[in-house]
Order: sequence, then structure tokens, then C-alpha cells
Amino acid sequence: MSRLACVRCGALAAADALASDATACACGALLEVLPPPPQAAPEALRARFDARRAGRAGPDRSGVWRYRELVAPALPEAALVSRGEGNTGLYEAPAALARWAGLPEGARWWLKHEGENPTGSFKDRGMCAGVTAALLRGARALACASTGNTSASLASYAALRGVPCVVFVPAGKVTTGKLAQTLAYGARVLEVEGSFDDAMRLVEEAARAFGLGLLNSVNPWRVEGQKAIGLELLDDLGWAPPDWIVLPAGNLGNVSALGKALREARGAGLIERLPRVACVQAAGAAPFARWWAALGSDPAAPFAPEPRPETVATAIRIGDPRSWEKARRELAATQGTCFAVDDATLLAAKVQVDAAGIGCEPASAAAAAGVRRLVAEGAIGPGARVVSVLTGHVLKDPETTAAHHAGARVRVAADLGAIEAAIGGL
Ligand SMILES: *Cc1c(COP(=O)(O)O)cnc(C)c1O
Ligand SMILES: [Zn+2]
Repeated sequence: MSRLACVRCGALAAADALASDATACACGALLEVLPPPPQAAPEALRARFDARRAGRAGPDRSGVWRYRELVAPALPEAALVSRGEGNTGLYEAPAALARWAGLPEGARWWLKHEGENPTGSFKDRGMCAGVTAALLRGARALACASTGNTSASLASYAALRGVPCVVFVPAGKVTTGKLAQTLAYGARVLEVEGSFDDAMRLVEEAARAFGLGLLNSVNPWRVEGQKAIGLELLDDLGWAPPDWIVLPAGNLGNVSALGKALREARGAGLIERLPRVACVQAAGAAPFARWWAALGSDPAAPFAPEPRPETVATAIRIGDPRSWEKARRELAATQGTCFAVDDATLLAAKVQVDAAGIGCEPASAAAAAGVRRLVAEGAIGPGARVVSVLTGHVLKDPETTAAHHAGARVRVAADLGAIEAAIGGL
């Protein structure tokens, strides 16, 4: 059985985490699921993970449930909701991309492409676990606030199980790709006249008032599922931990999940040391990066939200991230860091990742910009091994990408002469 406990005061909220749908402690801090440590030795666990890759059963084929001894050991196997999420590519940075980042001699950089999940973002990893737990608790309807990816993911998993869902999105602030997906899977979409942070406050109130299962990353089961990004990338690297893992950060659920995964993997003997974690915010929506910097001189500095978050990277346009306390703990545990990059830097990084043939949505490129900055600062030195997480698919935000490349489109007359002129020099 997994316990449910407070991340700040440690108070036990439930001896069986499945028995409670609380997300916060009486002290105000978030709760976390604490699974029992795996009983098997690390070699036996690794062998089991390997064997499942060759299996045909649904949960074995999932890049989340394959690691179920660490992700959610208490959940009955027959109840696991899955679309075969995870199993995403780990691409070594092509030469041009490595050169752009200034990667030093002997250093290696891989990009873990979470955009290759079933609905095109890493949210599927947390969602399969969150929806499984919610249905085991008997939830009849599910809800979330979203900048677009969480809603697309929830809508898909809810439809898979025939459960109604309602999503709260900031009106006019969701990309066409994400909105279309969410509608297609059949969610009821409420376009809230306000920001994501307004939508988040509302969905929390609505979940309480109307008994909806809340599937944002304040739901501790979401975090448990998202741990699998860290586990799978360690597995991809043969359990030889990299020196750095770099990822974008908005609501801070993902960095919290990653840190927890790394600590628990070390606890289980799967790795011997922790990689350092760097999370990267957009400069216009960087309350956590600012706080992290302030903590350097004053460990008691209070966390302050950003009242007017603004960035082209809509997935991380969040001013009042819920998981700030969890994220601080994980950065401290991994000797990590957080900083911000401006939109121009982030878009320049996206152009590079896209041109490498890999591609990502704008928010994801913050991680690539982060790698470049860590190299420039000397934190990534010769011989370092680095993984950055690409959180979303290149088709998630077609408007931004198409607008950027508008000048590269060539309109030609439908005759061979025009074609010859247009391809001259190829
Ligand atoms: C959700 C999301 C993020 C931010 O993750 P948080 O857990 O909110 O910090 C980054 N990139 C993409 C593409 C996302 O969908
Ligand atoms: Zn507490």
C-alpha cells in the first residue's frame, strides 16, 4: 500500500493513498504518494523491465507501467489504464545541434522526445496513472485546468474509459492543435475568461463543489506516473545516470516528478548517484526562477507568484505554479538549478531543434536553450553527459512555427521551367 503524506510537515493524510482524493494538507502544502520501496534487488528489477519490453500485455508495453514496482506498486494490474504511453525516442543531438549549443569536446547530449507520447506530450505519462487512481476511487467525471496539453491528454484517457470530462482553458490562449485535439476526444471545453491561473483556481473549487476527479498535477498520482520519464531515460542509458537532466518548467509538476523518480531509483539501487536537474522557465513567466535566485542569499525568501505571466511558450505561461515547494526540494536534492530564458532565445532554440529533424513545440525548446546556457556558463564541461526533455510535439503549435517560416515558402507556377528556377543550386 502507498501512503499519502504532506511534503512540508510530513503529516500522514492517508495510510492508503487510494482511499483519499485530497491534494493538500491542513497546513496548505501539497500531498505526495509514498510507495513502499521495491522488494526486488536492482538486477532483478532491471531484468523484469527488460523482459516486459518483449511482452504483449498492455501494461508491460507501456513505458509507465513497465516500471510499476516504482510507479504504483499498489494498483491492481487489471485496472491500469493505458495507451501504451512512453517508449519515446532518445536522440543523440546531431552534429549541427551540438555545435549550436557549443557542446564541448567529448560531451554527449541526448534529447528525450516526450512529444512522441500518444497525445503528443509527456502529460500522458501522468494521466494514465491519475485516471487509473481516479477510476479506482469511483470518480464519475474528471476535470482539469490546462494550457492545452493536459486537456488533450485527459480527454483522450477519459474517452478511452467512457468517462465524461470537462476542461477549463484560458479563452483565446490555447493553440489550435491542442484545442482541436481536446474537442476531438469529446471533452466539454470551458473557455474561461481569464488566465490559466484563474482556470486553475476555478477547477479546484469546481472539483470540490461538484465532486469531479481533479487531474492536474496537484493530483499526486499524476506525479507518480510522470516519474516514468526519468526512469525510462535512465533505462535508455543502461542505468548509467547522466550528469545533467534539463527540462522546461511551468506548473513545476514535471520537475517534481523527475526529482522524486531519481531519488527513488537511487533508493532502489538502480542508480548510484543523482544527476543534477536544471529546469528552465520563460522569462515572462518565471516566478520560480526568480525565487530560486533569491533563495541563494535568503533561504527564507517567500515564494511570490507572477501576476501577469506572458510568453510565446503557452504550455509554460503560468504565474502561480502549484508545485513550487516540491520543486525546491527536488532541486536541492539534486544540486540542481532553475533559470529563465527570454522568448527570442527560446524560439531560436526551437528553430535548431526543428532543423535537426527532431522538432518540438515552443515550451520544449526552453530545455535546449537551457543546455546551451549551461555550456556557456561552464556547468556542462568536457566529457559531460546531458539529457534534455522535449515535452511536446512539433505539431502542437502550428501557428508559431508556420509564422516563423513564412519566408521559406516558395510559390511556383505549375510548370517545369518554374520548378527548375526554384530549385536552382540544389
Ligand atoms: C505541461 C508542459 C510543460 C510544463 O510542465 P509543468 O509540469 O507544468 O512544469 C512544459 N512543456 C510542455 C509541452 C507541457 O505540456
Ligand atoms: Zn502539512
